[in-house]
Amino acid sequence: MDCAFCTLLADPAAPIHPVFRDGTALAFLDHRPLFPGHLLVVPVRHARTLTDLPPELVGPFFERVRLLTGAVEQAMAAQGSFVALNNRVSQSVPHLFLGRFESVS
Ligand SMILES: [Zn+2]
Repeated sequence: MDCAFCTLLADPAAPIHPVFRDGTALAFLDHRPLFPGHLLVVPVRHARTLTDLPPELVGPFFERVRLLTGAVEQAMAAQGSFVALNNRVSQSVPHLFLGRFESVS
């Protein structure tokens, strides 16, 4: 399978800056951040889109997203954040990922 995120997930020496990983999700800093704290959160199991994510993983995956959103907001003293997910439209990697951004102004 030619999936950049699955390649990252399989390589312990991948050139990323991980901030969280468990058996459900990996979160790492975007290599081209739009804002400070720009984080990508991907499910460990390959799923191209949200509708491809097995139903039993939806809750656990979004629980990680919820925790990371709060942790990064607190760490960066942000006033809020924006959490986004693309399904095919504007999706740069064919592996489900959420981007989260800080509002620090
Ligand atoms: Zn993948």
